[in-house]
Amino acid sequence: MLKQLISVFLESRCLFCSRTTSESLCQYCQQKLLSHQLKDRNISWNNLSVFAWGRYDGQLKRAIALMKYQNQPDIGGLLGKLLGDVWLHSGLIKPLAKITVVPIPLHSKKLKKRGFNQAEIIARSFCQITGYGLNSQALIRVRDTQAMFNLSLEERTKNLENAFQIGHKLPKHPVLLLDDIYTVGTTIKESAKILRQQRIEVIGAVVVAKSIISNQ
Ligand SMILES: [Zn+2]
Repeated sequence: MLKQLISVFLESRCLFCSRTTSESLCQYCQQKLLSHQLKDRNISWNNLSVFAWGRYDGQLKRAIALMKYQNQPDIGGLLGKLLGDVWLHSGLIKPLAKITVVPIPLHSKKLKKRGFNQAEIIARSFCQITGYGLNSQALIRVRDTQAMFNLSLEERTKNLENAFQIGHKLPKHPVLLLDDIYTVGTTIKESAKILRQQRIEVIGAVVVAKSIISNQ
């Protein structure tokens, strides 16, 4: 009886379809999310490779938007778990490797407004799955850059110039950068540049969703 009562309390509504569930998305909607997973990641691990979990459209785009703009940080935990699972199965890096995960930071103004950094929430859950260390203070975003979805590659690069600085806590191990969305890679490149200027090794980046742009 007590157990039944507790399970009623623990159950909430799926953020997509309102079915009862103990997670942020019900099993049915999680299955739909899985259909956005990339089948062929085609990764040759080079200078700054990017490993993406899925395509940035449909239910995955909706999940990320809900998390960021409708205050649903729990979705980040689910996305980090999905990303961590496929990363471990990819065999790109041997298990138990010493790696520090650095989430791409938000500007303090944006962090205050949103209340959380989505990349950090995803990274926390990713690190629980992979066993890697998390360092959220390796980079600081010092410029409040404008939203980039409508900008050209040139404008994006300009927009991010001097946007990051090295943070208060230097990573102890080679770094894997982590972000929610990857479009043309300017954020990842700029972040890697700042870390490498401090002679910190950056092995690549992992992202939840990759935007497939037709003119790329
Ligand atoms: Zn659902």
